[in-house]
Amino acid sequence: MPVEFKLIKKTKENSNPVLKPGEAYISNLVEKDRFVKKFLWIACYLCGLEAPTLSHTLTENSDGTVTISPSLMCPKEGCPAHYYIRNSKLELT
Ligand SMILES: [Zn+2]
Repeated sequence: MPVEFKLIKKTKENSNPVLKPGEAYISNLVEKDRFVKKFLWIACYLCGLEAPTLSHTLTENSDGTVTISPSLMCPKEGCPAHYYIRNSKLELT
């Protein structure tokens, strides 16, 4: 299975896109009408479970790609997915 990461553009009309495995979109965390940070909603490339990366740091690179640190682990019990997102590429650990 090819391991690919795809960043989906969120639009006004489609603010909660349905994700396929390996897909993600950038969302804003807002608390009490105050912007807190950007995070990624990502669908696990193995099982497709969608989860936010709230405890991770999202960096938007000058070339339009994103990097997430530290590494990501799927929250679904029994799913072995553990990976990095670097420059919008999914890399296995
Ligand atoms: Zn998973």
